[in-house]
Amino acid sequence: MTDSGDPVPDRALDRALGSVIGSAVGDALGAPFEFGPEGAFSARFPRAGHGGEMCGGGGWDPGEATDDTQMAVLTAESLLECGGLELPDVFGRFRRWAAAEPKDIGLQTEAVLTSGDPWDLAAALHFQTNQRAAGNGALMRAAPSAVYFARQGREATMAAARRLSALTHGDRAAWEGTAVLHESIRVALSGADPLAALPATLAAVHPDHRARYATVLAPDWHPDHATEFNGAVWPCLGSAVWALRTTSSYEDAVRAAIDLGGDTDTVAAVTGALAGAVHGRGAVPERWTEALHVPLPGFDGRTLRTPDLTELTRRLWAGQEPPAPRPIAP
Ligand SMILES: [Mg+2]
Repeated sequence: MTDSGDPVPDRALDRALGSVIGSAVGDALGAPFEFGPEGAFSARFPRAGHGGEMCGGGGWDPGEATDDTQMAVLTAESLLECGGLELPDVFGRFRRWAAAEPKDIGLQTEAVLTSGDPWDLAAALHFQTNQRAAGNGALMRAAPSAVYFARQGREATMAAARRLSALTHGDRAAWEGTAVLHESIRVALSGADPLAALPATLAAVHPDHRARYATVLAPDWHPDHATEFNGAVWPCLGSAVWALRTTSSYEDAVRAAIDLGGDTDTVAAVTGALAGAVHGRGAVPERWTEALHVPLPGFDGRTLRTPDLTELTRRLWAGQEPPAPRPIAP
């Protein structure tokens, strides 16, 4: 054991890298298949490990990450630059990004970020008038904050998840799903099995929302059982957990997620965050991370690549280290 309490800290960092980079890769891999039919990915790429899958299309360059990863990076940079959770700062970054007209942005997210309402009211006001605010748009950007808050434990992790999702999603259902995902990633980073931990995770979900999540996270649930399009928070999270549960590698989990069709970039981003945390950075194929890039509209034309995401994740993880002892002067 080390001072930080991790039996093997490098392994935990590897899982943190797997989560952040695995989510971005899933996003970029799934984007060209968005709103396509079931099975489109494996029809085009029948065998795992073959290559060429980071193909681009539908307006996306090969390896180009979408709004999912762009918002994840903005969250990460806010946490690091503010030294913690500063919700008005995160919201300000989101708004600056939305104003720069990114190629893709979720309907709810766009309505909230362009409303002109203050950070602490915009999502709630949108929910009051629309009554539909349980999209998957807060799930998709969860990996960096899950890494950042992991060592603060379950309660702090789920509380931060709820507050971050409430910036854009007024429906508590979206908060609770995002909290479940953060907690599942936290469990995986610790080296434990997030599937085995689901009963404990569900017990920490708000009672009004527990039953519905228990349904989509149950071992016998299948994405075909979904009662909504997978752009909604429940089937999106359920599908990611199903993809993790029914496969034994990062690659197969993400393939299964994209093959579901529908909101493929986000279902694969959420699956990638979870499967990357379980299987680690080493399980994310190099042929996918090589082409990966994350443009950041509204932020001085910056584009992040895998080495940048690696550095960002190292800092997110290190942000939770106890302060290093001062070197002793010679
Ligand atoms: Mg997207």
